[in-house]
Amino acid sequence: MDALWHFLWGDGRLLGIQWSLWKVIGWVGNLVFFSRFFIQWYATEKRKQVVVPSAFWWMSIVGSLLLLIYGLYRRDSVIIFSYLFNWIPYIRNLIIHYRHKAARQFCPACEAVCIPAAHYCHLCGQRLDGAERVFLNAAPAGG
Ligand SMILES: [Zn+2]
Repeated sequence: MDALWHFLWGDGRLLGIQWSLWKVIGWVGNLVFFSRFFIQWYATEKRKQVVVPSAFWWMSIVGSLLLLIYGLYRRDSVIIFSYLFNWIPYIRNLIIHYRHKAARQFCPACEAVCIPAAHYCHLCGQRLDGAERVFLNAAPAGG
């Protein structure tokens, strides 16, 4: 019990860390950046296939931004370079994710959500081409 207490409150400090606002920013960045893997793992286990949910990319942006801010404060070139350009693929993946989501098709026969490139509904076989194609998130015609 003493060892645990010493680990938690070593030298009168939580986890032996000299806490400051910058340490909190850095550790919150670490927590967010690391815990995105649990979100991705959970989504993958739930669907029983490899899935990268949009929350993973949002947490990547927030976590790496906080770590970049911490690195800039510390003027640590290793940390700065590690998180300086990550946002490019994160933002690009979010754009692709939301474009794909917006382009999904809605089957008029069985109301299934079908992938953008599908010509037929994967559930009922209804043809999805041409006039029957209805995009989700699209403004209704004439109204
Ligand atoms: Zn259908």
